[in-house]
Amino acid sequence: MLRWIGGLLVIAALAVAAAAAVRTRDFVPAPLADLAVAAPVPDIAIDADAAAARLGQALRFQTISVQQGQPWDAAPFAAQRAWLETAYPAFHAVAKREIVNQESLLFTWEGSDPALKPMLLLAHLDVVPVEEWSKDQWEAEPFGGEVRDGFVWGRGAADDKGSLVAILEAANALAAQGFKPARTIIFAFGHDEEVSGRQGAIAMAKLLKDRGVTAWFALDEGMVIVEKYPLTDTPVALIGIGEKGYGTVRVTAEATAGHSSTPPPDTAVTLLSEAIIRIHRMPIEMKLGGGPAIDMIRALSPQLPLTIRVAAANEWLFSPVINQQLGADPRAAALLRTTIAPTMLEGGSKENVLPGRVSAMINFRLHPRDTSAEILAAAQEAVRGIPGVTVEWASPPMEASPVSSTVSDSYALISAVARAAGDNAPVAPTLVLGGTDSRHYLGVADNVYRFTPAILTDEEISGIHGVNEKLSVANVERMIKGYVHLIAAGAGAAP
Ligand SMILES: [Zn+2]
Repeated sequence: MLRWIGGLLVIAALAVAAAAAVRTRDFVPAPLADLAVAAPVPDIAIDADAAAARLGQALRFQTISVQQGQPWDAAPFAAQRAWLETAYPAFHAVAKREIVNQESLLFTWEGSDPALKPMLLLAHLDVVPVEEWSKDQWEAEPFGGEVRDGFVWGRGAADDKGSLVAILEAANALAAQGFKPARTIIFAFGHDEEVSGRQGAIAMAKLLKDRGVTAWFALDEGMVIVEKYPLTDTPVALIGIGEKGYGTVRVTAEATAGHSSTPPPDTAVTLLSEAIIRIHRMPIEMKLGGGPAIDMIRALSPQLPLTIRVAAANEWLFSPVINQQLGADPRAAALLRTTIAPTMLEGGSKENVLPGRVSAMINFRLHPRDTSAEILAAAQEAVRGIPGVTVEWASPPMEASPVSSTVSDSYALISAVARAAGDNAPVAPTLVLGGTDSRHYLGVADNVYRFTPAILTDEEISGIHGVNEKLSVANVERMIKGYVHLIAAGAGAAP
């Protein structure tokens, strides 16, 4: 009998191993769509130093976004707009400019073939402020636009005037050379991306929608070629195919107020504490599948160690190991699940008084597999039975974006641009953890992608919204070439 069971176990183990081996063998990058649309890319001479100097000039306009309700300085936006006209005359001669909500810029470069869906290129005109306390840590004037040691220094160099300038450099160079697109190209440059895009991107997207525009694709910032991808230690071009949602719940606990000398078994503070702990620990599904993470690993599979390939290809077998390994790294975990972060506490006015009401804020970043309604229901379920505790959204949550296709011909085009810009580094789709303007264009484009053709080091990435923001002159050149490639190959020369 025992031998019989042992034999069965051996057969079962062999079957599992065989299935895992087959899945690992078949775990290869998904094929890209045929790029029937690609036209030859014209060889355009780029003067990178002159372009870097122009980016420096753009950084001198202090187009700072401030929170709603705070005083807003419109003058730098007007000055920047006037400067763009003089810096990029050939582009302004071929593209129609519309000013939306006083500050945002919508350009249309009409193509010769109205049957082709337009391509939509996004960037933003505004920047975040430079915090007062950080000013003495800057190695260059934050709004000086200095070009030094091979870098353009200043707030906005990487986020996002680098893209703005590179897109315009590319379009201007093509226009100056007489390039005539077959496909219409729309450029939408919002002026309030850093504070939600309400006046800029949302208004421009609505305008396009009212005109019946459905773009072939929209391309925005959000992902780059990272110089050192953690799983491979090599450059990898990451294309954002979706972005996480956002929502904050307010957890409130109410109990009888009174003197702390005769406390009841539970107080508002202990009830709130228990609620926070329970929500923080509530089960949230975490896995590679059902989101961009598995597509990313699949795309990179030829570069990955066998152990990772075997595990990723056989999540049905190895999910506990994957969750333990990846869950330990906050950045990896954020790709695989909705995250929960208690961020604020409020309540109590005196050390010897029991407060009647205390509250906490818990911030969620929603994975595409979870809806805000499911998350709220789970949080409410988690605190069930704790007396006096309520959980509600502090403000309307934003769902995760839909996930764009990796088998579309526009993804193939952007992949080709990314591969060239990254000197043949592998290209993989991924999930963007923050928010960009691109989400507002989901209704007016077949697919929305987030990618800038720049190779960024950890240092350059840390400057974004931080100290010593800068972009290398080499990246300025790489980005211009990337956008020339994208426009020429994607919009095609008119016959
Ligand atoms: Zn940005």
